[in-house]
Amino acid sequence: MTTNKTIVSKGYAVHNAGEKLSPFAFNRRAVGASDVLIDIKYCGVCHSDIHAAKSEWHGSSFPMVPGHEIVGIVKEVGSLVKNLKVGDRVGVGTVVGSCGKCDSCMSGDQQFCNEATWTYNSTEKQIGGTTYGGYSNNIVVDERFALKLDPKIDMASTAPLLCAGITTYSPMKRWKVGPGQKVGVVGLGGLGHMAVKFAHSMGAKVVVFTTSDSKVKDALRLGADEVVLSNDKKSMEKQANSFDFIIDTVSAQHDIDSMLSMLKRDRVMVLVGLPNKPHQINAQTLIHGRRILSGSIVGGVEETQEMLDYSAKHGIKSDIELIPIQKINEAYERVLKSDVKYRFVINMESLNK
Ligand code: NAP
Ligand code: ZN
Ligand code: ZN
Repeated sequence: MTTNKTIVSKGYAVHNAGEKLSPFAFNRRAVGASDVLIDIKYCGVCHSDIHAAKSEWHGSSFPMVPGHEIVGIVKEVGSLVKNLKVGDRVGVGTVVGSCGKCDSCMSGDQQFCNEATWTYNSTEKQIGGTTYGGYSNNIVVDERFALKLDPKIDMASTAPLLCAGITTYSPMKRWKVGPGQKVGVVGLGGLGHMAVKFAHSMGAKVVVFTTSDSKVKDALRLGADEVVLSNDKKSMEKQANSFDFIIDTVSAQHDIDSMLSMLKRDRVMVLVGLPNKPHQINAQTLIHGRRILSGSIVGGVEETQEMLDYSAKHGIKSDIELIPIQKINEAYERVLKSDVKYRFVINMESLNK
């Protein structure tokens, strides 16, 4: 059943760049014919939320309700909704709209559509208005962007798959990570720990590069075969020319040139970390060894569904620290100190406190 009424929402918002988040009441669009209204149960805290809240990339618009690792339960469906019903468990990631006609949309890469609508801090390109994300009690999205969750999975530890999961799964599939390969994961945070789990499950030998010696034991538990402290020059030198694939998840500017030199000839390093300052590379490092440097951003809708199904089948979920929304500012500070094991997830029930 649908009504024409706008949806009343409550959440936490950032009101100016870099300020702390605080309670915020707002309205969402009415549930349209192809929309679903979702009661949000949990939302992951991605480092991108922090970059955006600090307006570190292109200009952010405020007030901003961050959050794009959303899981919840369908509460209402529009009259033309075909694939979802009230009571279904669903997830929403970083993209909630696209033109549906361009080359990117036709190939299932909606995240590259020029008309893509992002879950927050974006204009609703298809219908007008501003988007507000998942640090809130509900969300209205077109059913095409609400992904089905296996009814048996744990919802809280599945939330991070909607961004950290797909962002690491997608480039591994694209570059055909598999058995017999040596895969490097740079940075053991939210994205990094998912990368370790996926690479391990795909049969690769996994080496984690971390700046935190406190994470060595965890890295091995998560599925790494070896851990290298990236500030230890000697250990780094031993890894030269030995990798088939490297995924770099680091959120800050760092020495990617030395990481590139770890690749074997003709192999690929993919950047997914998005620092606000540019990296430096030496052309020599690419030229000798004909190495390839690439990038990747989340994944398409169908591929995200594939990743969710793959994760449910292989028992892959995120290692989380569950927090009430009232602890969000503290959580941001800890993420900035690389002190999260390995993803904060907000329990949205806490909004009622
Ligand atoms: P995170 O949990 O903070 O993890 C980042 C990790 O990078 C840290 O835990 C730390 O790992 C390492 N690190 C941080 N500062 C460093 C420094 N100065 N030098 C070397 N290593 C450092 O963040 P996340 O949520 O995983 O996100 C990581 C990055 O990916 C962010 O920039 C985010 O915006 C971006 N992102 C991109 C996409 C995409 O589609 N491309 C999607 C989501 C997020 P160690 O302690 O192990 O060194
Ligand atoms: Zn994210
Ligand atoms: Zn398009």
